[in-house]
Amino acid sequence: MPETLPVRELRRIVGAGNLFTAPEELVAYSYDATRAESLPWAVARPASAVEVAAILQLANRDGFPVVPRGAGTGMSGGSVPVQGGVALSLERMDRIVEIDEENLLAVVQPGVVTGDLHREVEARGLFYPPDPASSQFCTIGGNVAENAGGLRAVKYGVTKDYVLGLEVVLPTGAIIRTGSRALKSVAGYDLTRLMVGSEGTLGVVTEILLRLLPLPEAVRTAAAFYRDMEDAAGAVSRILKARIMPRTLEFVDGEALRAVERYLKQDISSGAAAMLLVEVDGTTQSAEQEIGLIATILREAGAIRVEQAKDEEARERLWKARKSISPSLAGVRARKVSEDIAVPRSRIPGILGEIRGIAQKHDLLIVNFGHAGDGNIHTNILFDDQDSAKVEAAVKEIFTAVLRMGGSISGEHGIGLSKAAYLPMEVGPEALAAMKRIKAALDPRGILNPGKIF
Ligand SMILES: Cc1cc2nc3c(=O)[nH]c(=O)nc-3n(C[C@H](O)[C@H](O)[C@H](O)COP(=O)(O)OP(=O)(O)OC[C@H]3O[C@@H](n4cnc5c(N)ncnc54)[C@H](O)[C@@H]3O)c2cc1C
Repeated sequence: MPETLPVRELRRIVGAGNLFTAPEELVAYSYDATRAESLPWAVARPASAVEVAAILQLANRDGFPVVPRGAGTGMSGGSVPVQGGVALSLERMDRIVEIDEENLLAVVQPGVVTGDLHREVEARGLFYPPDPASSQFCTIGGNVAENAGGLRAVKYGVTKDYVLGLEVVLPTGAIIRTGSRALKSVAGYDLTRLMVGSEGTLGVVTEILLRLLPLPEAVRTAAAFYRDMEDAAGAVSRILKARIMPRTLEFVDGEALRAVERYLKQDISSGAAAMLLVEVDGTTQSAEQEIGLIATILREAGAIRVEQAKDEEARERLWKARKSISPSLAGVRARKVSEDIAVPRSRIPGILGEIRGIAQKHDLLIVNFGHAGDGNIHTNILFDDQDSAKVEAAVKEIFTAVLRMGGSISGEHGIGLSKAAYLPMEVGPEALAAMKRIKAALDPRGILNPGKIF
């Protein structure tokens, strides 16, 4: 650990039991879901905004990096302490402070696990729609920092659509509040929106004010299996053209299905080349009616089998298959690059065709699955070390195709470490320079999560 780290002062701020320096403790805070890893010099687990502020003031005085961390499930290396310093774990700030049933609001600390918030509000007939596939272990603070999307974004939008206000500790140690409890507020610059999606580089989020909705009365789920990937992609367009808004519309290609079937030791698709998983919600009557219409469209688009979940058990079985894709890909090849491209929805068949061509050209195994309903596809390249150069070329070609179609190189996972080299491709030099000026204005010493995004 560098001598510059004021361990005694840090210990005084968070308490002896919440400052870790032993190697085995540092390892636990050194990585995220990208498999990138780098050891912090110490781990601090503050219990309040005041403690976070005190740590950031020390960091400014002594010039050491501070890297905010939720559950470490990020897919772009955001919480990996690439330049060492203090890993700032928000895990102790895990309270649901308030659920205001009259105004449909929740106040939560950043370390609350997203799935716990879902359960808590649903028990009161309320609904917090953002639903990353990692919801059982990621945190709301991480969701805010990444502007996480998820399975229900097609109908309900993403995290930024539910954040009304924040308490944030700026990199210099000042504590600010943004937004208000009113549904409308245009007082000054929208610092809430600036912070949401800033990937832990502009401030540490210490409290979040969230908008809630009434819980829909009924949910209905159906899965459709296709012999041909193009048919499945075409079905997505047909559903959206029918002016039905499903709450989820997930796409899984044949390679992903095979990986899940091996992982779960279960035949799900009888060898299909693609699966769509569709869910609608509303009143019991409207949900029944819409899922019936969707089943018809799925069949007309060429499905070899359409399965409607008859009960909660059947629904959970279908979701288990979808949510097991990421872990099932872990052992297929030595390495995995996970991209998270987004295109206008009508371009889904086009981009899947382009990716297939790029995979053939470079002789690479590329697996596609994800949130087809909002145009966000997780493109995973599985490879061995000797193919690294081919993978780099393939990623550039995929991003070029995505941008040509009016899309984005990252729909929901953020830029972090893994996509920093490609950000200029999307935003151009002037926008990049503006982003860097914002960062420099808020974090003049560059101590908060250095090495990320740029
Ligand atoms: C199996 C799997 C499925 C996933 N599915 C989805 C999905 O469907 N949709 C989706 O959007 N993402 C998904 N993800 C990615 C990931 O879960 C999200 O990005 C999530 O928001 C990260 O939360 P976390 O608590 O793990 O944050 P971390 O990984 O710990 O941190 C992520 C970033 O947030 C910053 N950060 C964390 N807390 C704070 C804070 N309080 N203040 C400021 N900055 C902070 C960190 O510095 C880092 O840059 C998935 C990941 C996995 C492993």
